[in-house]
Amino acid sequence: MDISTRLEKIISDIPDGVKLVAVSKTKSVDLIMEAYNTGQRIFGENRVQELIEKHPILPDDIEWHYIGHLQTNKVKYLAPFVDMIHAVDSIKLLAEIDKQARKNNRVISCLLQVHIADEETKFGLNEEELADIMKDLPNMKFENVRISGLMGMATYTDDEDQVRREFRNLKSIFKRIEDEFSDILYDFSELSMGMSGDYPIAVEEGSTMIRVGSLIFGSRHL
Ligand SMILES: *Cc1c(COP(=O)(O)O)cnc(C)c1O
Repeated sequence: MDISTRLEKIISDIPDGVKLVAVSKTKSVDLIMEAYNTGQRIFGENRVQELIEKHPILPDDIEWHYIGHLQTNKVKYLAPFVDMIHAVDSIKLLAEIDKQARKNNRVISCLLQVHIADEETKFGLNEEELADIMKDLPNMKFENVRISGLMGMATYTDDEDQVRREFRNLKSIFKRIEDEFSDILYDFSELSMGMSGDYPIAVEEGSTMIRVGSLIFGSRHL
């Protein structure tokens, strides 16, 4: 199967309102253009260096999503063009995104990453840390970041029930945050969950944005 067939299969699999982020990390500009020519416009990368090399040589109407762990000192490289940052896990990082977005006269959408998996290695906030950030927000007076929703990664396991439980948990955290902080959230609508191995479950559990790489571009050898 080629890239366009795979893309079409995924798109026909998911409901209309669910966005597909084509995760192109480690993949060549040629492969990205193949997806682009099928109509795909949202692409995700998780290395700053790689993204800033690819961005200038690819079409302007690509919506770039940064999906990896982001260090504060690298925000400045992405701020001129990145559309959404998926894995924000501290108020310090938000403050830097706000500052660099302001310098570029932009508003950058951010998702707060919640730790829902079993594994200790995965980044993300627990519910208490998430609530602490939300409580801090009014004092910070950020004008150039938009808190657009939450992101999470399920445990890498064959146990579908466990994956489903973890996604369901993220959805319920999303609802609680939405309720409790409705006065300060004006565009809290995205729930970024689901990858190649688990996106059908994520969509059933309320994902609005899936991040799919290997199922579109083939496996990565890194
Ligand atoms: C690599 C990556 C993906 C895509 O993974 P696949 O299993 O190839 O679909 C999704 N989300 C994040 C955060 C990633 O780093």
